[in-house]
Amino acid sequence: MERRRAKQKRNYRKRQRGTSIYFLLWAAFSALALVIVLLFSSVQRMVTVQTYKNEAARSLSETGKSIETAVLSEPPPVFGGNRSEYIRYLSGAYDVNIFILGQNGEILFPRIPDSGTAEFDFTDELQKLKAELAQSDTSSVIYEGEQEYVYGAEISLYGETEMYLYVGKSLRLIEAASGQIAVRTTFIAVFVFVLAFAVSSAVSGWLTKPISEMTRKTRLLAQGNFDVDFHGADYGQEMVELADTLNFARDELSKADRMQKELIANVSHDFKTPLTMIKGYASMIMEISGDIPEKRNKHAQVIVDEADRLASLVADVLDLSKLHSGIQELKTTTVDMSAYTREVLDRFAYLRETQGYVFEVEIEDGLFANVDEVKIGQVLYNLIGNAVNYTGEDKKVFVSLKRTDETTFRFAVKDTGVGIKQEEISTIWDRYYRSSEMHKRPVKGTGLGLSIVKAVLQRHGLHFGVESELGKGSTFFVVFIQTEEE
Ligand code: ADP
Repeated sequence: MERRRAKQKRNYRKRQRGTSIYFLLWAAFSALALVIVLLFSSVQRMVTVQTYKNEAARSLSETGKSIETAVLSEPPPVFGGNRSEYIRYLSGAYDVNIFILGQNGEILFPRIPDSGTAEFDFTDELQKLKAELAQSDTSSVIYEGEQEYVYGAEISLYGETEMYLYVGKSLRLIEAASGQIAVRTTFIAVFVFVLAFAVSSAVSGWLTKPISEMTRKTRLLAQGNFDVDFHGADYGQEMVELADTLNFARDELSKADRMQKELIANVSHDFKTPLTMIKGYASMIMEISGDIPEKRNKHAQVIVDEADRLASLVADVLDLSKLHSGIQELKTTTVDMSAYTREVLDRFAYLRETQGYVFEVEIEDGLFANVDEVKIGQVLYNLIGNAVNYTGEDKKVFVSLKRTDETTFRFAVKDTGVGIKQEEISTIWDRYYRSSEMHKRPVKGTGLGLSIVKAVLQRHGLHFGVESELGKGSTFFVVFIQTEEE
């Protein structure tokens, strides 16, 4: 048993140590930052690449035209009439690749030295160039080739047609730019991670401070310290609400604790009184009245009465504790409340006959409810008993059971007594509450009557209450749900 509890405790601790808010925040911040950085950098990369390409196309179109003019004209004298030299020079000067291709993609210029081999195979490239030219209605085209941006044009040299000028501008620069962006992105990502770390630790510190504080105070509260005060201000609305709720829980706990202590004090006191009486009268019988039948019987009757009181007190305390712990199931059946209320009233007949109490009764027939008969009987008995105890000089008690609408009917018991002070109305339902004034009471009460009423009606889920006017009397009522007769 002990070991199991220790294990439960360890598991609880383990769960407690789970992922901290700090880590969650850090992960969330970092993930968010990373997504933003990646999104931003890929957009930037796209835009930059596109700008570079546009720019490359525009400058290539100009360069290409100048090269075309140059290539078609006679090579300047410095090149000694060598067109290949001139083309190589132009390639260097414009930082492009220039080739004049034959109709099958063979390189015509610049001429490849006999020892060398062609640098490129232009067969496929020429197909593409031709296709681009066929689609375009201008004499030259610009397009994006396999590795280069290409300016292409059909030209004629030495009277030969079907020659093609190929001017290729490498995409190197664009790749370099993308590379640079990637490096920059990495730097920004690292920076953002560091920033996310700093921000999340600041935010989580700020966020967890009141939570840790409240956890610490709640532990104190659990140990029975009702002086703790929860603060949530400065930490946002949710923390204020949490603090308010905890303060409310503290008040309720403290109230329950106080009431429990009072209950024990009161119950012990109420147990003691009849016990003292029983002991006292028993001693009297032994010492004085044992031989005098008249006196002895009287004294024995006191003992019986006090024992009865003790028994009903014990029964009430037991009832209440069972109701509150919820161990007793309600045994609900369809009860003819009209007949049952009359039955309960019959138990007060002796008061009418011997003590001049007047019961004015108004009970409609055919009212049925699905309730626990014994427990509801106790409720009616307690409420009528209280009315008898607290009614006025005229000794009048009004009992009614009437339909309120199609689905409900209401039991009410009214007295003509002093009534209940407004500020006491909510406390009379509490265990062991007794109004300050003492009463001589024809119906024995243990001070637990109304708390039993409350517990039973709450278990049934029925609406109930009291209307009271000081000096005029009180009306206690219960609203039942009408059910069909079985
Ligand atoms: P008891 O009547 O045994 O003291 P209850 O729980 O039945 O205990 O009632 C609690 C308190 O509520 C009573 O002590 C009394 O102060 C008040 N009370 C109950 N019923 C009435 C009533 N009909 N008129 C005035 N006060 C009442």
